[in-house]
Amino acid sequence: MSFTIKNVLIPVEDSYATFDVQVVDGTICAIAPDLDVMGSEINGENKLLLPGFFNAHTHSSEMWQRGIMSMLPLELWLAELYDFAPLDLEKVYLSALGTAVETLLSGGTSVVDHLVLIPGKELETIATAVRAYQEVGIRAFVAPLIQDESLTAGIPAGKTQQNHEPYFRPTQATLAVIEEAVKQFHCPEEGISILVAPTGIQLCSDALFAGCIELSEKYNLCRHSHLLETKAQEKLAQEKYGCTAVTHLKRIGFLDYRTTLAHCVHLSDRDITILSETQSTVVHNPLSNFRLGSGIAPILKYRQAGVNVTFGCDGASSNDSQDLLEAIKIGSILHNVTDLDYQHWITPRQAVEMASLGGAKGLNMADQLGCLSVGKKADLVMYDLTNLSLLPRTDPIGLLVLGRPSNVVDSAWVNGKQIVADGKVTTIDVDNLRQELFNHSQWHTQRLSPTVAQIEPHYRSVMGL
Ligand SMILES: [Zn+2]
Repeated sequence: MSFTIKNVLIPVEDSYATFDVQVVDGTICAIAPDLDVMGSEINGENKLLLPGFFNAHTHSSEMWQRGIMSMLPLELWLAELYDFAPLDLEKVYLSALGTAVETLLSGGTSVVDHLVLIPGKELETIATAVRAYQEVGIRAFVAPLIQDESLTAGIPAGKTQQNHEPYFRPTQATLAVIEEAVKQFHCPEEGISILVAPTGIQLCSDALFAGCIELSEKYNLCRHSHLLETKAQEKLAQEKYGCTAVTHLKRIGFLDYRTTLAHCVHLSDRDITILSETQSTVVHNPLSNFRLGSGIAPILKYRQAGVNVTFGCDGASSNDSQDLLEAIKIGSILHNVTDLDYQHWITPRQAVEMASLGGAKGLNMADQLGCLSVGKKADLVMYDLTNLSLLPRTDPIGLLVLGRPSNVVDSAWVNGKQIVADGKVTTIDVDNLRQELFNHSQWHTQRLSPTVAQIEPHYRSVMGL
């Protein structure tokens, strides 16, 4: 499968150049002016070509509850989320399609789906999401979300004595599901990778982390987890381990160059040094951190400490969309408020690099993805610079990151295969998807979560509210 993009604008040094880009068998094989056309010819005039971005942390099935979740902090919000979680595979399939489409149409060619599993149908849930991503053709990192402690264990006990229900599935059974998923679906060459993805220290035992590390070593899998998203988790880590969560995760060997950590809001300076030393990646989810009142991650400190940072939308129930360009915009300019020294502020070009190469590094594919250079895989996005939201003509990347771009993705390729053309996803019928999402839902305004009612008094008391 070969093609040549003619006369497309690409960023070089501090400016832009108009070049041709040749792609052969999924790989970029030349970038230069006046190249011969190999394979089909794509007109790149008045378009900007960038490497595809990574939506490096999301939960696809949360799409079913976007717009309706109560204004609650994470621990209570999760209780509401799980009380109403979709339990059928058809919904898992549709929301994975929806997540893929929204990611693609906002510049992403890779998605990390920290996938919530339907109890009793764990492997089927994974198979369903994999099928959806294969149909769309987006590069997918499916990270089945696992835990082995029940929800209330995620709230610090404070001075009280708390007894938690045992989790319904034994740790070893959970690990066996993941190993089976790896055997059945892990195929990075074909665009599907399985990650080990314990949800976080708040709901996982050391035995579960140890099992994940073992699988990661055995099959060379990337590792993914939430980390210190809230103040409550910071307190909980002290109760559980007598040290910070980062110190503990380092001690048990979970942190390495293949580890991506979502949120990272409440870390100490020492923790930041550990992330840098272990070459872990931080996934910045600014919108979710706002929505759940979690706080602002110290992203500029991470960058100054040499920690790799990339962006995620997080699940659509805490965002409440999957617009990657929005996450990149907010996630960069937010820090102009948190950090006085403007010399460290994130420029639009740096934001683009974080969203592409930053993601590739975190997913251990920086040798293959993340920038426009010869030899890399053709995961590419071409933006229409004649779109109203990208006019008048100034700095295209500045407009893309700082503006409010809408419907600007003209084309996208994953592994050299075109899956968006003329602004439309070509691999699936998006009109049909819209109809299915509509048919499987209802207008809602009110609902009551029994679990929130049950755990809220303790949460308020332990958090001093
Ligand atoms: Zn998350």
